[in-house]
Amino acid sequence: MAKHPDVAVVGGGIIGLTCAYHLARAGLAVEVFDRGDLGKEASWAGAGILPPGNPAGAATPIDVLRAIGSERFPGFSAELRELTGVDNGYLWCGGVEFLGSGEAADVLPVWRNEGIAFERLSLEGLRRLEPAVGDVPGEAYLLPGCAQVRNPRHLRALIASCERLGVGLHPHTPVEGVPRDRAGRVLLATGAWAGRGVYPVRGQIVLLKTPAPTFTRVLMLGKRYLVPRVDGHVLVGSTEEPEAGFEKANTAAEVADLVALAVRTVPALAAAERVRCWAGLRPGTPDGLPFIGPVPGWDNVFVAAGHFRAGVQLSIGTAQLVTELFTGRPTCVPPAAFALDRPPHAGGPAAFRS
Ligand SMILES: Cc1cc2nc3c(=O)[nH]c(=O)nc-3n(C[C@H](O)[C@H](O)[C@H](O)COP(=O)(O)OP(=O)(O)OC[C@H]3O[C@@H](n4cnc5c(N)ncnc54)[C@H](O)[C@@H]3O)c2cc1C
Repeated sequence: MAKHPDVAVVGGGIIGLTCAYHLARAGLAVEVFDRGDLGKEASWAGAGILPPGNPAGAATPIDVLRAIGSERFPGFSAELRELTGVDNGYLWCGGVEFLGSGEAADVLPVWRNEGIAFERLSLEGLRRLEPAVGDVPGEAYLLPGCAQVRNPRHLRALIASCERLGVGLHPHTPVEGVPRDRAGRVLLATGAWAGRGVYPVRGQIVLLKTPAPTFTRVLMLGKRYLVPRVDGHVLVGSTEEPEAGFEKANTAAEVADLVALAVRTVPALAAAERVRCWAGLRPGTPDGLPFIGPVPGWDNVFVAAGHFRAGVQLSIGTAQLVTELFTGRPTCVPPAAFALDRPPHAGGPAAFRS
């Protein structure tokens, strides 16, 4: 372990590890501490949906971070694979978003202004692309730029890459309080456990398996979705349960509800094997935006937490912003947008809800 590293990252989820990787790439000595195994909390549990994005056209700071992820995920995946031999399963599979009529009026201008490719699908058009999809209410929109990643594999690739870059990794090392004397800078990336307004929002997922894939695109229905893997697995998610607190368990009622949704959406899944289910704790914030930046009252303590439903898609943009802040470079977005003491964000229409 470096005696006094430039940066101590507390929390080895996708946010902490992606930041550690980028900071090490920028030449800083970095150590990561996690109280459990690295990458086994929300980041492991997530579905890995990567919505499309266009950094040049994104209108808000959060859309810019998402779009940076969308643009850089293919290259970043290749970089990690070259460094470690670990394939994170990044797949540019496309997606279909189902919007209610009121929702389309809000969302389509955001897509249009950002320059995100989309196409309204007729019922016949949808059936041509995805013959297995049943009668889903709402208007179907093809999003060719939607992609997915296999979270556990991506985390394995990140961990191995950090090791290659000389990042000190310390699983099973809980950090209590703020260890401000342990490093030049401390980055708190403790997800749902970050405090300071961040709270847990449980999400449950059911994993189904068919002998061969029945559909190929991510199907997004409001806050629920079906993610098809190339090997016939289908992830069905997810619930949003702030009332569950830190209780990371599945419930029979929600699991049944997710299975019913899957069968309504793709009737052939009635015959699918139910492989397993799990739950994870998303880091929620009062306005749904992450906190990224200095912790007021401390000169060397920073936070990167509260990425709620989007920590995978926001991970690269977050790491880029943190690295820019730590190295004194111009930032990709105004940091005030994610400050801990920002006024609550009023909230425009979200470009993506899944
Ligand atoms: C069911 C579900 C589906 C999701 N689907 C998607 C999706 O499709 N796309 C997407 O972009 N996002 C998705 N998300 C959201 C995404 O997974 C999260 O936003 C992201 O994982 C948050 O990453 P994190 O690193 O902040 O938190 P975590 O992965 O929870 O990591 C925090 C780490 O901090 C450690 N820690 C906490 N306290 C301490 C301490 N005191 N000392 C040391 N270590 C500590 C924990 O052990 C943990 O490893 C989903 C989430 C869930 C639950």
